Parts: sequence; C-alpha cells; structure tokens
Amino acid sequence: MDVLMNISELARRLRTTPDDLREKMPLLGFDVGHKAIKVDDRLVDKIMMKWSEMMKMERLRAKYKREAAIKEVAIAKVKKVGLPQVITVRDFAAKLALPLNIVIGELMKNGILASINERIDFDTASIVAEDLGYEVGKEDKDIADEAGLSAESLKVMLEKEGEEKLEPRAPVVVVMGHVDHGKTALLDAIRKTDVAKGEAGGITQHIGAYQKEKKGHKITFIDTPGHEAFTVMRSRGARVADVGVLVVAMDDGVQPQTVEVIKIINAAKLPFVVALNKADKPDADIQRVKTQLSEQGLVPEDWGGKTIMVPVSAKTGKGLDDLLDMILLVADMDKDKIRANPERRAVGTIIEAHVDKGEGPVATMLVQSGTLRRNDSLAVGGQLYGRVRFMRDWNGKAVDEAGPSMPVRVLGFKNAPQVGDVAEVPEDVGALKQVKKQYAVEKQASPSMAVQKDEEKSEKKTVNIVLKADVLGSLEAIIGTLEKFQTPEVGVTIVGRGLGNISDGDIQRAEATGGVVFGFNVLATREAEILARDRKVEIKNYKIIYEIFDDIKRRMQALMPAEVITTHLGKLQVLAVFRADKTGQVVGGRVTEGKLITGANIVLYRGADPIGEGAIVQLQTGKTDVKEVHQGQECGIKVTCKTTILVNDVLDVFTEERRERKLVFPK
Ligand code: GDP
Repeated sequence: MDVLMNISELARRLRTTPDDLREKMPLLGFDVGHKAIKVDDRLVDKIMMKWSEMMKMERLRAKYKREAAIKEVAIAKVKKVGLPQVITVRDFAAKLALPLNIVIGELMKNGILASINERIDFDTASIVAEDLGYEVGKEDKDIADEAGLSAESLKVMLEKEGEEKLEPRAPVVVVMGHVDHGKTALLDAIRKTDVAKGEAGGITQHIGAYQKEKKGHKITFIDTPGHEAFTVMRSRGARVADVGVLVVAMDDGVQPQTVEVIKIINAAKLPFVVALNKADKPDADIQRVKTQLSEQGLVPEDWGGKTIMVPVSAKTGKGLDDLLDMILLVADMDKDKIRANPERRAVGTIIEAHVDKGEGPVATMLVQSGTLRRNDSLAVGGQLYGRVRFMRDWNGKAVDEAGPSMPVRVLGFKNAPQVGDVAEVPEDVGALKQVKKQYAVEKQASPSMAVQKDEEKSEKKTVNIVLKADVLGSLEAIIGTLEKFQTPEVGVTIVGRGLGNISDGDIQRAEATGGVVFGFNVLATREAEILARDRKVEIKNYKIIYEIFDDIKRRMQALMPAEVITTHLGKLQVLAVFRADKTGQVVGGRVTEGKLITGANIVLYRGADPIGEGAIVQLQTGKTDVKEVHQGQECGIKVTCKTTILVNDVLDVFTEERRERKLVFPK
C-alpha cells in the first residue's frame, strides 16, 4: 500500500501554505490536483528538491531585477521637488530622497555649514536641489507662516527691514582656535578688564555670552569656546557672529584645529582678526607663527597681507586693548551689515540652554533684531515655547528689556529650546496655540532624540553610542558633528545622550544595543564602572572633542564593508551542450559580445530570466586551452553552474573585485 503524506505537513516542511503548494506543484511538473490532501510519499523528496531549486531561482531573479531597478532609478530623468520657505537639513534630504551626507556635502560646496537639525531657507535649498538635478517648486505656506511667524529665513528677514528703521548694534564676536591656545583665558581676561577698573559690581555669570564696552562701543562676545561651528553657522540663513577671533598660541603655532577654524571662517566668509596669544611666554615665536599662518593663506599686514594680527597675553593682559580696537575696526568695515531694527518683535538665537532643577528650562537668547521684553511670548519653529517671566544680563542683573546684540538669560520657557534654535516673539499668540496642538502630534511621531531615522537604518551598519557631556553646549556640538558622519553604508547612532556623569543606566542602554559609552568632561560613577566591567561595556572618556570624533571614525571604518566592483566582460550564446559531471558542464557557443576569460563569473539567462549562476573553469578554441575568447569566436567552455544549461541559453560574463574602502567624512 502506498504511504501518503498530508499536503499540510509537506507545506509546513517547505515553509509555505498548502494552497501555495498546490498552486505551484504543476509548475514543478507534479500534477496532484487542486484539492489534493495527500501526496505519495515517494514523491516527497522529489517535490522538496524541485521546490528548493525553484525558490533559489526566485531569489536569483529578484536579485538581478533589483539591481536592474537600481540602475534605472539612477538614470531616471529630472525629478521634481516642492520646497517650503524654510526646511531643516534632515527634511530637505528626505524630500530629495538622498543620503544626508551627500546633501550636507553639497551645502558645504555652497559655503553653508549646516548640521542635520539646522534650518536652511528656500533660496539656499533650491540652489542645492538644482545642482543635484532637481526641478524646484515652491510649497504652500506652512503653519508657522499662518501664525504670523517669519517662516522666511532670518537672513532675509533681517535684511529686508526698512533702511530708515535700522540702527547700529554691537558686533557679535566668536573666539575660535586650537584647544589650549587660550580661548577661555582670553574671554575671561577681556571681560575682567572692566572688573579691574572697578566698574562692574554684579556677580559674574557665565550665560554663554557677555557684552563689553570700549570707547563707548559695545561688543558682544560669545563666551562658549567650542561652539565655533555653531556660532559661525547660519542659523536660519543668518550668521550668529559678525566677527571671528582666531586664537593661536605663539609657543605652539598653527595646529590641526587652527587649520579647521580657518576653513570654517573662509566657508562662512566671516571677517576676523588673529590673536597671537601667550606673548608672555619665553618660547613665544612670533615670526614662526606668522610664517605658518602665511602658509595657510593668512598673511599679516606688516608683511603686505590683509590679515590683522595682534600679539596678546591673556595672562598679563597685554595687547587686549589693541585686540578690542581691531575688533571694532573690522566691525566698522562691515557696519552696513551690523545693524538691526530695535522696534520690531524680537527674534534671536538660543546660544545656551539647560534645565535647572529649581527654575525649569533656562536659556540664553542672543537678540538679533527687535527688543525682547518681559511678558513677551516666545516661539520656536512655529511652536509656543513659553513667556518671558524674568530676564537677567551677564552680570546677573535683572533687566526688563533686551535690544539687538544683547544676550539675556531668559526664564519662563515651558519647553527647553535647543542651542541653535531661533526664538521669536509671535505676532498672534492665538494662532500659535493651535499650531502647538498640530505640532504636538508630529512630535510624538518623531522623537527629536533620534539622530538617524529608521529608514536609514536598514542594512546599514552603525556604531552605537551613549553620549554624556558636562554641558549642553558640548553635547550639542558633538552631536552636530556626528550627524555629519553618516555615510550610506556606515553610520553612528546615538542610542542615549545626556548631561552629567556616566550612570549604570547608560551602561545598560549601551549593553542593550551593543554600544559604547562616550563621556566628554565627565566621569563614570562607581556603580557604572562595576557594571561596565561586569557586562563588558566599553567606556571612553575624553576631554578633547576631536579625539571623540577620531575614535568614532576608527570604529566606523572598521565596519565599512569592502567594495565589490563588477566589470561586465561579455556574452556567450550556447550553441551546443556536450556533457556534465561533478566538476562542471561543458558546452559550446559563440561570443556575441565582449570577451570571456577563465575564472570569470557567469549568470545563466534563459530568455530574459536569470536562472543560474557560476564561474568559468576552462575555455578552449579548437582543442587548445586558452585564457580568453573574443567577440565573434566560437569556443568550448566548462562552467560550474547548478542549473542545467540548454541550447540557446546565454551566459552573461563578468568579474568581481573586492576592494577595501576608506570612509570619507565630510570636511
Ligand atoms: P582653551 O582650550 O583654548 O580655552 O585654552 P585655555 O584658556 O583653557 O588655556 C589653556 C592653558 O593655557 C591654560 O593653562 C591657561 O592658563 C594657559 N594660557 C592661556 N593664555 C595664556 C597666556 O597668554 N599666557 C600664558 N603663559 N598662559 C596662557
């Protein structure tokens, strides 16, 4: 008696459904009928073999179809994209359906340093999109616009103020340079010159910026070294800083970050002066530093160049007066631009923010235009962020209003803004409240914490990190740079971030994602250290921001898959089939295109369908072995290929080369 097997059991073994199996059986050459419940046991093995062959073919077909589809997309015609007045870099990349690093790189080519969350204006975005081959259209007004918020770029907004309303404002200065060259010391020394004169009585407060008076002119200093990329960047199209001070220690000379800063300054076209610091040191070598700077294109005035260089000592205070004079001089050359309308609704950039245990969110806003007053409402990105309950200046003194270029610490935020956010006083708070609701839904859907969206994660390898830093400014600066590290194959994902020491919670989070904990200017608690040792989680502590980046870059490089370069060689049409054994199939045919070489790979085509893969073992013309056969020639060929080759099949021949690739990070 025949032994039978249930169709459902067979389907289970083949990981499919009984219906699917019944439907496909005739295709495999088994006729069991549409209603069959059982099959003959003797057929089971054969069915299973045929089935596995069929699945393999399907996979193969899908693979080559996918590759063909990718090629098609790449050569697709001009694409259209609609852009709003203002868009974040992240959303911009999503609209273009391009990887972030390509978009950021393209922005840089246009002199715009923008990280993923920064907003760029329509003009900038459309230039870049057009460069990338898109046809650009304008999108309708966005919600923020309807609420009376200036959705247009801050730059345009500041520029289009009526001439007659503009008044000079204090230049905003950012101090930049290599680590340990004295940025902090210089900023402290400059602010203390007043104190020495006994003018200021208040308690010194580091709120992220301060103002300084010199010959009746005010100068605003951003007091957060390490923020260079952010302060020079365009926040909604407008630079925060008007003048840069490049600090170079005379005993150390030009260093990697000095060169980096010069690049940033050039890209942003920022007017600047060079402070040659540590003049008091015995090993200060002014000639050497000037030579090195000249090599970087900064030629001092006394050598016939255009770069203003002032020797200073943050330690003794020597040269600081000159430096301030030179800053004013450079600002004066740009005085047409360093103006604002004090009468309008205030708008400015958040330069420092943290959450205070007692006071809640506290942020320092640098007012860029208009005047901020107590009780004004504040909005960020079309969302209501709170009301100014209380304001303090850099001396800790309570103030009722803050005009253009004045930094103020603001209390009353309900949501903590982020460094780099543009905050403004809305025209119509009523309209904004509605906006808030609409945004609230969006916010839930996309937590702002994720640097990388899920769609980018597919198949991509990532270095997972938990990042802890001492202050929000550093955290933001590090994250801002890491966002630029994304490449199509390898990325970095911040699975956790926060301020303060590394806790056991951070270790757990890193462990759960196979990640590493990075600390910047923070330590690990004892519990965290013990847990890390126990769970084998790596903790890396750094005090120098660039070392974090180097470390992460090394890890990313290690994950980089090798590149497979496929070179198409030629095609052979099969004219005769000779024999097959374990070592391969021997067929004869004519080279219809290109050439064939031994060792090359093949794809077997029957009609338009790829049905098998393999490699060329041996080639013969006449009866002699050859290495190559060219177009027009006939040959005998032995290939490894599991699928049986038939007359009229076509072999598509190609080579694959694996090459280690070096990751290229945007500069
Ligand atoms: P930053 O990393 O650029 O902010 O550098 P810091 O301001 O922290 O300075 C680094 C080190 O250089 C500190 O030990 C300072 O005391 C020292 N330093 C800064 N300016 C001077 C200077 O003009 N003369 C001397 N002798 N030491 C200085």
